[in-house]
Amino acid sequence: MSDYDFDLFVIGAGSGGVRAARVSASYGAKVAVAEEYRVGGTCVIRGCVPKKMLVYGAHFAEDLKDARRFGWNVPDCTFDWNVLRDNVLADVDRLEGLYTQTLDNNKVTVFRERATIEGPNTLRLASGQTVTAKYILVATGAWPQVPDFPGAEHGITSNEVFHLETLPKRVVIFGGGYIANEFAGIFNEFSCNVTLAVRGDQILRGYDSQIVDRLLHISLSKGINFRFNAPPERIEKLEDGSMLVHVGGGAPIPADMVLFATGRVPNVKGLGLDKAGVEMARGAIKVDGYSKTNVDSIYAVGDVTDRIQLTPVAIREGQAFADTVFGGTPRTVDYGNVPSAVFSHPPIGAVGLSEGEARNSYGNIKVYTSDFRPMKNVLAGRNERSLYKMICDADSGKVVGLHMISPDAPEILQAAAIAVKAGLTKADFDDTVALHPSMAEELVLMR
Ligand code: NDP
Repeated sequence: MSDYDFDLFVIGAGSGGVRAARVSASYGAKVAVAEEYRVGGTCVIRGCVPKKMLVYGAHFAEDLKDARRFGWNVPDCTFDWNVLRDNVLADVDRLEGLYTQTLDNNKVTVFRERATIEGPNTLRLASGQTVTAKYILVATGAWPQVPDFPGAEHGITSNEVFHLETLPKRVVIFGGGYIANEFAGIFNEFSCNVTLAVRGDQILRGYDSQIVDRLLHISLSKGINFRFNAPPERIEKLEDGSMLVHVGGGAPIPADMVLFATGRVPNVKGLGLDKAGVEMARGAIKVDGYSKTNVDSIYAVGDVTDRIQLTPVAIREGQAFADTVFGGTPRTVDYGNVPSAVFSHPPIGAVGLSEGEARNSYGNIKVYTSDFRPMKNVLAGRNERSLYKMICDADSGKVVGLHMISPDAPEILQAAAIAVKAGLTKADFDDTVALHPSMAEELVLMR
């Protein structure tokens, strides 16, 4: 008999926590999970999944327009936000059910309440109950960061954006990262007037600058407004309920909705980590390669550790934790060549080093590009060009970075990322016969 109530207690039923709980239980561990909000976490409930559905919904605006050039007699179509919103939220409910079922099927006890840490092996639930566990896994994710300035309380974050009662006419988005560019695209397709207020002079920091420039160019041509060097100063609420958004370096921007997309910070507030003596680093839980904190019984995975804030990374970390602690197969996560995407209109896909990073790391590099107008855009009369970029180590020919902005770029990039991860060279790509006609064939035809 164990001296503890559970072998493993997971705080947070998001992507990383659910994977760790399920796999640990399948190895025979007695597992509990506490979740104060909804099972599924940010990705499923108010992140990647509903966002992607909105991206699909938004893209119909272009598809319906383009369809006419392909001979379809499309009557004037109207868009009903409430229908899309409710269908998306219903699917989120369905997915939450599936996640809960997975935990149930694996005999994981789910506490639908907040849990805090009282000591290395002790937790307290919001109901007052104390439980003990041989291991505690913190998988509480991250939380939107809102800058502190007068009137900031009038804005919303990605936590609320999926529930809007009506579509705003004028949207101001603070930030120039993933969420800002993705929601700029979504709202713009829904015919909202969108302005991105970026505190510096750069969007999507970390992505290859040529690809980012292409997105900026296309976004501008679609009617999205950008204000650079425009940090937030003040939000003034007007009598009619609308707002005037004061930003640095220019006239105030009228808005009906302000969205903060200004980064996400590890969700550690009030968790009691200090009571157990868990060390932190820059606001995140500090862990080793096996996701173990400085306290032997406490581990952490996912955004709360701020390694790479991506769902598939959290899932890998959760899996590696379970394999290591309960599966008898110690495993670390390989963070090299993790592919990523921005679901803007059009989307970006990337893996490996940007041109700038590659130059710094390798010195001698070769860059190949393909700058083309996809066939579908040509017939649609849509003047929107795609850009693929391959960065190679000049000495070995090895592909060290691949970047794309194009319709379906994330779908194509996922497959190409296997080749980059495997260390293939430009010659290996060129040895592969093109699949014609496709956009993906540009990958083996780059010059
Ligand atoms: P990002 O880190 O992508 O971008 C944050 C943006 O906010 C940057 O432009 C940053 O500017 C700006 N910013 C930060 N602090 C302030 C401030 N105080 N005032 C004004 N501007 C500020 O964060 P997001 O919120 O867009 O997304 C959070 C994370 O979620 C991402 O990092 C990503 O890991 C994940 N995510 C992934 C998605 C995907 O995979 N497709 C989609 C959505 C989110 P600066 O560049 O100057 O620092």
